[in-house]
Amino acid sequence: MTVMTKPFSSFEMAQTQFDRVADVLQLDQGACELLRNALREFSFAIPTRMDDGRIQVFRGFRVQHNDARGPSKGGLRFHPMETLDTVRALAMWMTWKCAVVDIPLGGGKGGVICDPHNLSAGEQERICRGFVRQMGRNMGPNLDVPAPDVMTSAQHMLWMLDEFEAIHGSHQPGFITGKPIGVGGSQGRTEATGFGLVFTIREALKELGINARETTASVQGFGNVAQHAIRLYTQIGGKVTCVACWDQTDQTTYAYMKHAGIELDELLGITDRFGGIDKAKAQELGYEVLPGDAWISQDVDILIPAALENQIRGDNAGTISDRVKLLAEGANGPTSPEADRILHDRGIFVIPDLLANAGGVTCSYFEQVQSNMNYYWDKDEVLGKLDVKMTSAFIAVSDLARRRKLYMRDAAYLIAIDRVVRACRDRGWL
Ligand code: GLU
Repeated sequence: MTVMTKPFSSFEMAQTQFDRVADVLQLDQGACELLRNALREFSFAIPTRMDDGRIQVFRGFRVQHNDARGPSKGGLRFHPMETLDTVRALAMWMTWKCAVVDIPLGGGKGGVICDPHNLSAGEQERICRGFVRQMGRNMGPNLDVPAPDVMTSAQHMLWMLDEFEAIHGSHQPGFITGKPIGVGGSQGRTEATGFGLVFTIREALKELGINARETTASVQGFGNVAQHAIRLYTQIGGKVTCVACWDQTDQTTYAYMKHAGIELDELLGITDRFGGIDKAKAQELGYEVLPGDAWISQDVDILIPAALENQIRGDNAGTISDRVKLLAEGANGPTSPEADRILHDRGIFVIPDLLANAGGVTCSYFEQVQSNMNYYWDKDEVLGKLDVKMTSAFIAVSDLARRRKLYMRDAAYLIAIDRVVRACRDRGWL
């Protein structure tokens, strides 16, 4: 007899996380129903002219989970395995993320099923413009504001802005964030998610009484978030000994290990624009190449998942070394509820995704403010403001966790959901 295992659903996981806290907050049925689901969902076709003249139809999604606190905000992912289910979960997580750092924005997320590895720049540009032609009426600076995410970049944002402005016949740089500097982008936006993550790691280590200089870390992912997190973590004295990432040629993941610590710039020199490391060159540089999941069982103090969702699960959380004291979630949704129970029982301090990776959207908010007033701040000002926001959000969450003896994820959710529920009530929606 074959045993049918239910396929993993990010959205169910997001709802499970919500339900736990809804119980604690004793939310009524109306509030639960409103917040367990999205306000609006869009699924659409993007007919695209390929370089060889054919038309290929890509599927796009945009979900606006909740905008009681401000315009929907959230990234846009290009991924061959994208699903509406995942985008729904990610949109919900954006609502909580914006609320936990207390920025006046709601939650949204978008995705296109495509693999940019196999698309020319022109084809990607046409997908971006096609996305805006389909969604433009339902997005805008005061409605819903996209940003980069998995496999999308500043260039994609600028193509989308250009299309949006062409449709509207006016400059509207607040339509999108993560733009290139000089065309409405903010200083520090590229670094913001990774740096924000390290600001929270720094605060957590302080709380745990651990000197950052005596710590080592293992990182899953080598894209924008991981690269900048490694840069700042190394600057505050930490040592990354392992990095795992996707290998496009072999269609699998590998972990690259160096006991003495990886050299960020050396690795960046052999990395493609999607964060894929050249395996042969890494071996030449003395890296030990291990199966991808080896990142999780490394004998380190800190684990940093900074790739995709559902990476730390019931089946592999047991392989986490006894030495690990801190898990800092750079990715969205990397830890399943079963793994949460294991981490909790083992006393591992978790900086949950909605807090740990909120630096990106916080800086997006700063970018929007700058774009809307057409006045731009220097980098120190942006990163200084980012540090203040991230640090105070971290302290608020960890104080609550300590006071009420809550798991850090539940404490972050409690603050976030409470703020969103209040906004919904104040508006008369609940
Ligand atoms: N995609 C990022 C995230 O998941 C940033 C979103 C934004 O800047 O709007 O938080």
